[in-house]
Amino acid sequence: MALINEHYLKLKAGYLFPEIGRRVKEFADANPGKNIIRMGIGDVTQPLAPSVLKAFHDGVDEMGKAESFKGYGPEQGYEFLRQAIAVNAYQANGIDISADDIIVSDGSKCDTGNIQEIFGSENKIAICDPVYPVYADTTVMSGKTGECAANGYYAGIIYMPCTDENGFIPELPAERPDLIFLCYPNNPTGTVASKEELAKWVKYARDNKSIILFDAAYEAFITEPGIPRSIYEIEGAKEVAIEFRSFSKTAGFTGTRCAFTVIPEELKAYDSNGNAHSVKKLWLRRHTTKFNGVSYPVQKAAAAVYTAQGQKEVSDVVAYYMENARIMRESLSAAGYTVFGGVNAPYIWVKTKNNMKSWDFFDKVLNEANVVGTPGSGFGPAGEGYFRFSAFADRANVIEAMERIKKLD
Ligand SMILES: *Cc1c(COP(=O)(O)O)cnc(C)c1O
Repeated sequence: MALINEHYLKLKAGYLFPEIGRRVKEFADANPGKNIIRMGIGDVTQPLAPSVLKAFHDGVDEMGKAESFKGYGPEQGYEFLRQAIAVNAYQANGIDISADDIIVSDGSKCDTGNIQEIFGSENKIAICDPVYPVYADTTVMSGKTGECAANGYYAGIIYMPCTDENGFIPELPAERPDLIFLCYPNNPTGTVASKEELAKWVKYARDNKSIILFDAAYEAFITEPGIPRSIYEIEGAKEVAIEFRSFSKTAGFTGTRCAFTVIPEELKAYDSNGNAHSVKKLWLRRHTTKFNGVSYPVQKAAAAVYTAQGQKEVSDVVAYYMENARIMRESLSAAGYTVFGGVNAPYIWVKTKNNMKSWDFFDKVLNEANVVGTPGSGFGPAGEGYFRFSAFADRANVIEAMERIKKLD
């Protein structure tokens, strides 16, 4: 008899985006011809930058000639890409990370989920509330939790509420976690953590032999000086942090797929006898066993992001989204909403008026303004009463959507 992994039975049905889809479809069917503007799902809308596209094409052409054809590449990524990442994303900013610390993959979603596998199921995991749902669901799948309570919290996970009161930076938890997921700039709140705040977490992790799993998917959207782009800007972080980065939002790779994990040699975790082991070695063992590398043309395209021309083009696209964010922030503030985020991240986190519930606000915005956003409560209980707008949209749609929302009463 084939037995299932029963931890999967604890998972709540993927509720948020299917439910949004259901309500939007119902509205569209009942109101044919209405122009619905979608600012819900965090997916890029602008095409690949020209230099990235050229490198992608060149990579494909190389695959078509016997003398430059490539079969399996190194599982952890080609040296040319890992070197380009180490030099441009880290060393150029004074951060001592080498190509050997970088492991290339097809996405940070996979990496943040798969990383759980190299850590024992006895580990206690801390996550923020609201949160990117992948961290919680993969914690459940890997057998580190009990059942899900009515409020959506799983037994065994340490939840750290992030609200207006704490500036969307969690307090240090009362119970000691072994693994701590942090994401800054944050999805969904669009907020950032200062150097001091991250230093507090690095110290906590060092004091408690915990590991920080730092998701920096939105690092490219930081516009203000002094905001850390990498956890390794914090002294001592190399011994206690793994960093996840992705080309998805940085360079429009959501459909192209390329990301990387950074694990410094110094990072250690322990066996049950207290002996230290290299986390990088375990991750490489997993990666090289279960993954056969990102396709060569995609890695060529990703490396082009780090050329001078690529950097310019990619940052122009980021600036386009951040101008959307500015328009949204200012329009929503002018319409009387309290808004967070949107300065160093492509998400605007809006407080609803009069404590309206997130889903009620969703229905109001959909029915009266024909605009789709994401109810904050879908990211966790502490998101109730908030709403997320994504700046990944076309400018004309952003302007039109804001005009319509201003007219709501
Ligand atoms: C979009 C996003 C990612 C990127 O995931 P990919 O699998 O690389 O596309 C990672 N983390 C967060 C929080 C995100 O919103």
